[in-house]
This record gives sequence, structure tokens and C-alpha cells, in this order.
Amino acid sequence: MTMLPEGVLRDAEPLDAPWDGVGEDTARQVKLQVRPIDDATFALRQSSRVSTEAPIGYLICGTRRALLLDTGDAKSAVECPLRETVDVLLHDWADGRGLPDPTLVVAHTHGHYDHVKGDSQFVDRPDTTIVAKDVDAVHRFFGLSGTVGATTEFDLGGRTLIVMATPGHDARSITTVDPTSGVMFSGDTAYPGRLYIDDLAAAKTSLAAMVELADTHGVHTVLGAHIENDTHGGDYPVRTRFHRDEAPLPLTVAQLRTLRDDVIRTTGKGVHRGDPMTLYVGNAPLPMLKLLIRGAVWRLTGRG
Ligand SMILES: [Zn+2]
Repeated sequence: MTMLPEGVLRDAEPLDAPWDGVGEDTARQVKLQVRPIDDATFALRQSSRVSTEAPIGYLICGTRRALLLDTGDAKSAVECPLRETVDVLLHDWADGRGLPDPTLVVAHTHGHYDHVKGDSQFVDRPDTTIVAKDVDAVHRFFGLSGTVGATTEFDLGGRTLIVMATPGHDARSITTVDPTSGVMFSGDTAYPGRLYIDDLAAAKTSLAAMVELADTHGVHTVLGAHIENDTHGGDYPVRTRFHRDEAPLPLTVAQLRTLRDDVIRTTGKGVHRGDPMTLYVGNAPLPMLKLLIRGAVWRLTGRG
């Protein structure tokens, strides 16, 4: 096994185990944490000291090509050596199967800064396609029609993913399902935390379509791009440097259903408490200000 770059922690913990990359005493030593989902899929989480968003990306390997969903919140390899990590993971994976290295597609669950900043590390990488982040480019690349909930197949070689257009949080949002492993990659649309909804009508249709997609393809695990809830019913305000007692990353399909029902029931702007997600609908400057102030207090008092 090739060595991963300095600051990259590879563990073999289950997905619901605590993450060193957000620990009060451990986050400082970690830039990126790699955790296997199965023998051909990896979760890649940036440490909360690299980005207080601590976003989670995914590398999904196939015999012909691999898909990297999200590049995180760090431009430079010094801050977070994502590219080198992906190179090592892909090479080791292919080598172990006697295959040449697959080509790489770099795409995004959606286009917000904390999911795309690392693209720059891949610009000069050979055999690599970076999908531009605007909605037309995303839909053109995957062959998605503009319709909310439209699906398409994406063949990696020996493994075919289903990609669905799921706007609501962001017009560019997509959801990806791996039917062979029963895993759904839901980006910022479903995770233990806050769902910021930009387009409520689109979010309702998208969540309903995601539940249907999960049911059709035997999904049992929903993996999003952040963790903002703790295990005591609270949440971490924005810009906290570590997360005490984080909620487990994976959501069940039952939780996805609850989220769908919460979103469908919602009629107006503002904050709507829910579990697994609290909804922030439309432009909500006051609640956002509250989150920022809470975050500042947490940092000052050493709580986060
Ligand atoms: Zn995000």
C-alpha cells in the first residue's frame, strides 16, 4: 500500500464512528480523513481545522473510470492534499486488481464553495475531466434533462450509478445512487444538520423523488456532505473549530422520508425545526446572524 501524504489519516472505522478530523484534541493533526465505505468507495472528510464546514466528499471507483464527488474547501495541496490522496487511493485500488489506473471524473454534489474549491488541484491531472459547476454544464455532462427528479445512468465500468437532478438547496444539486451497495450520496440535501433551501418548490419535488429513488434501488444508507448535529439534540453553529459528540454521518431511508415529509409540510420562509434536519427556508438573514453569533460565542468560550 502506497503511503498517503502527511496529515492524511486513513482509518477502517464504520461510517457511524466518531471522526478524528473534528475532535477537540485530534483535529489539529489531521488535514483529511479517509474512511472506506466498501472496497471500491471512500469517504474523504476535510478536518474542521482546514475548513470549519468539515465537508465530506466521496471517491467511487470503477474499472474504467472513477468519480470524485466534491473537492472540498481547500484550494492548495499544502492546506489539504486531496489530489495526491486520490492518486494514491486510485492507484492502489487498480493495482490490487491488476488494472491500469482508471480515468477520473471530478464532479460536485452542488456548486457551493465548500464543495468545489479543491478543483484547482486537479486542473493539470492527466486523464481527468472536471465538470464545470454551472447547472447547464452539470446536466449536459451527465445527460440530465432540466426536469427536477430527472435521472440518468453513469457507467464507471463494472458499476453503474444513477444520477438524479435534485435542486432545492442549490439549482446545481445532484443525488447519486450506487444500486450495488445500496448507498445514496445526497450532498447538502440530506445529512444530519441544517437544510438551507433556496427553492422550496424544487426541494419538495426533489425530496419526494429521492425517496422514490431510494425505494426503487434498495438504498439503505444515505450519505451527505456535512455533520452539524450532535448526539444530544443540538447543533454546531457555523464556523466552529471542532465538534463534540457528533451525530453519526449516515441517515436511514426512514430519516429521509421524515425529511421529505417535513419539507413537504413547510409553507413559508424562516426556520423550521426538524429531525434529522432543521430547515432554513429562503433568505433568512436573522437566523443566519444568530448562527454566526452563536458560533462566535462558542469559539470565544472554547466550546467549539
Ligand atoms: Zn456544504
